[in-house]
Amino acid sequence: MKRRILILHTGGTIGMCSSAQGYVPDKGFAALLSRRLPPQQSLASTHPLPEYELIEFAQLIDSSNLMPADWRQIGQMLIERWSDYDGFIVLHGTDTMAYTASALSFMLQGMDKPVIITGSQIPLTELRNDALDNLVTSLILAGNFTIPEVCIYFNGRLLRGNRSRKVKSTELDAFDSPNFAWLGQVGIQIKLEHALLLEQGKPQFTLPQFNPDAVVMAQVYPGISARVIDALLDSDQVRALILQSYGVGNPPDKNQALITSLEQASDRGIVLLNTTQCYQGSVYQGAYATGETLNRIGVVAGSDLTLEAAFAKLHYLIASGYDPLYIRENITRPLCGECSPVN
Ligand code: ASP
Repeated sequence: MKRRILILHTGGTIGMCSSAQGYVPDKGFAALLSRRLPPQQSLASTHPLPEYELIEFAQLIDSSNLMPADWRQIGQMLIERWSDYDGFIVLHGTDTMAYTASALSFMLQGMDKPVIITGSQIPLTELRNDALDNLVTSLILAGNFTIPEVCIYFNGRLLRGNRSRKVKSTELDAFDSPNFAWLGQVGIQIKLEHALLLEQGKPQFTLPQFNPDAVVMAQVYPGISARVIDALLDSDQVRALILQSYGVGNPPDKNQALITSLEQASDRGIVLLNTTQCYQGSVYQGAYATGETLNRIGVVAGSDLTLEAAFAKLHYLIASGYDPLYIRENITRPLCGECSPVN
């Protein structure tokens, strides 16, 4: 029997149209898709197109406007329909797709069906586009394979969602997974790395109430002052700060005021997580004396978490009610493949 897939259209370029102000979200994606994808096209394929239904957000979102509360709404819509479908496609803007993919992976732990997030760099309304192939291939993957994970499919790559990043702003190969191998590659053949996929679990879903002010980020740069950190933390809503430091996790440790600000924040119970500005690699806080300073003041080394996964995981743990000590001890313990186990 053919599998049934739900497509949840949240917005993004894939369904946008041109306006005097540039691309804007446009309603009516289901009708557009049925014109571009007549049902008879799928009949003679090795991997047939599954049956699908499409639900569209009442307010479609350019994902640059997306808020943590939207992660919850997407999660809720999936969970409410979980037993009605064999898999799910989430159509989403590319700008914050990696954040949403990470957040969904934490909310949908133990999942037993695929959730494939996709979108495009060129809208489906354009004659030349990457929208149709990204969507058709996502449908084929969700409809024919066992993939119990939140993934991003984009331009021939199937990526673990919480390892993914948008790496190119104007090319069609916009997504990569710098610290983890691709889960699959789609060319003439569809090749899945079955050994890398998460094991099918028993759903243990949660829908925490995210506080958008709970997590802030600071990128270290030459000349950064303590004022920047103090300003970011000047709210009792803030519970965690992600530091994006240089290389393997090095801050300017000669800036004593900066280090003191961080130490005082840590003493107040703010979780400080150190990630790297580099595209690829892990944090080894202490490979250099500059980084070792952070070990002494209670900053947690972020392992090989992407910035997006670190951000979503901190939000998830905070919204789930965990205290700073628990979060510090567990932020780099993998929940669903988002980072490599730390020895
Ligand atoms: N700004 C768009 C969005 O993120 C970009 C895209 O979808 O490619 O919704």
